[in-house]
Amino acid sequence: MTDDFRTAARVAAELVSDYLEELPSRPVWQPMPLREREALLGLELPEKGVPLGELLGVIGERVMPAPMGNGNPRFFGWVNSAPQPAGVLATLAASAMNPSSAGGDHADVHLERAVVRWIAELVGFPHPPGGGLLTSGTSMATIVCLAAARNRAARRAGRDVREEGLAGMPPLVGYVTGETHSCVRKAAELLGLGSRHLRAVATDEEGRLDLAALRAAVAEDRAAGRLPFLVVASAGTVGTGAVDAFDPTADLCAEEGLWLHVDGAYGAFGVLDPVIAHRYAGMDRADSLALDPHKWLGVPVDCGCALVRDTEELRGTFSLVPSYLRDEAAGDLGWFSEYGTEQTRPFRSLKVWASIAHRGRAGVAADIARCTELARHLGALVERDPELELVAPVETSIVAFRYRPAGMGAEELDALNRRLPMAVQLRGRVFVTGAVYRGREVLRACLLNATTTERDLELLVAEIRAAAAELTEGRSAS
Ligand SMILES: *Cc1c(COP(=O)(O)O)cnc(C)c1O
Repeated sequence: MTDDFRTAARVAAELVSDYLEELPSRPVWQPMPLREREALLGLELPEKGVPLGELLGVIGERVMPAPMGNGNPRFFGWVNSAPQPAGVLATLAASAMNPSSAGGDHADVHLERAVVRWIAELVGFPHPPGGGLLTSGTSMATIVCLAAARNRAARRAGRDVREEGLAGMPPLVGYVTGETHSCVRKAAELLGLGSRHLRAVATDEEGRLDLAALRAAVAEDRAAGRLPFLVVASAGTVGTGAVDAFDPTADLCAEEGLWLHVDGAYGAFGVLDPVIAHRYAGMDRADSLALDPHKWLGVPVDCGCALVRDTEELRGTFSLVPSYLRDEAAGDLGWFSEYGTEQTRPFRSLKVWASIAHRGRAGVAADIARCTELARHLGALVERDPELELVAPVETSIVAFRYRPAGMGAEELDALNRRLPMAVQLRGRVFVTGAVYRGREVLRACLLNATTTERDLELLVAEIRAAAAELTEGRSAS
């Protein structure tokens, strides 16, 4: 077994190329055989080192045969994309360099400034130098943005949160909807705001923030002595892909002095599709935007991004430069570690650069547009099928629907729809997941892969019907 790096690297290149090439013709996902699972769980810490060639053998035989499924064009689960091949290659080079992108004068730091600007340019968000950074994902980007929002609001109320904390202050109140992603609540909890002070306001028929309800809630909170400070709007909810009406929301936030944060983790890049771009009008007026290159752009995990309008709000929230990190060469913007929570930071920008550069702006936009087109096609297939029901309009590239055969009661329908995703997944041909939308169990398919075909979508519908038939078999007899 070889222990020579160059030889092993060639083997690795073959292994990875074979894997990516064969992926579309393999089952999308299969449960791991118990023996294989236990072999991994029970791995023993080796006393003596294992040669590189043998490590690759284990990767090829034990690990790569059991993927999550998201590289396959018939994977429609959650919001997990196939990796951009250019990003896969970049990951190897980035780990060979292995810098800490905290700051300093090396390629990775300058490249991160460039790709954060690219991301802002792609989605049309204003980008003052220093107005953002890459993060592990949107969960972290949300913590970063909401911390800046919290500190601004507290300062306006005469409080320096960094020094004094929040204790004894009237509660700061943020506004979300029932469709807001759970990472917002996590951020609010971590930032000491209290999830009770994150108020879910009503949504309209399309799942969008209801502005009259928002206005009323703000007035009620002010009258009670609380301090409204934040509105979280969605550029693509995770349940149905709904996009909030940003312009009127931004008007309200401006009037009321509230920080507008947009969760664009999944859907912000949808603005690149001319067919749906109008839904995003006013997204550029937000105070902050969190988004995930590791979703619709296909940048290999992990990579989120926080963009903020006011650089100083961000730096003022996080900058803390101990003497051992003083850096005369850092320039006006200082270090990335002054804009977020991480100190040692991975070289994420290389895979972002490679993934975007390989497709070009036009290629990225074409991929996005293809996905929304596929989603509308799936929506049409659902509407045409007497046993399926669309539960929300297809706004971006998520299709939320239900299996609804005639003659089944509400409870039975919910139970069936809840069991359906796993039954479909176990068949191995397509992969779809479920969610609860407006109190009902639904299926949701997320289209992120531009190589998916209309045939794949027809297969998805057929697989859902077949899985449902399996689940309901013998029902009428019993
Ligand atoms: C995925 C997602 C998040 C969380 O982002 P992570 O990258 O998983 O941390 C937040 N909001 C929405 C709408 C998402 O789709």
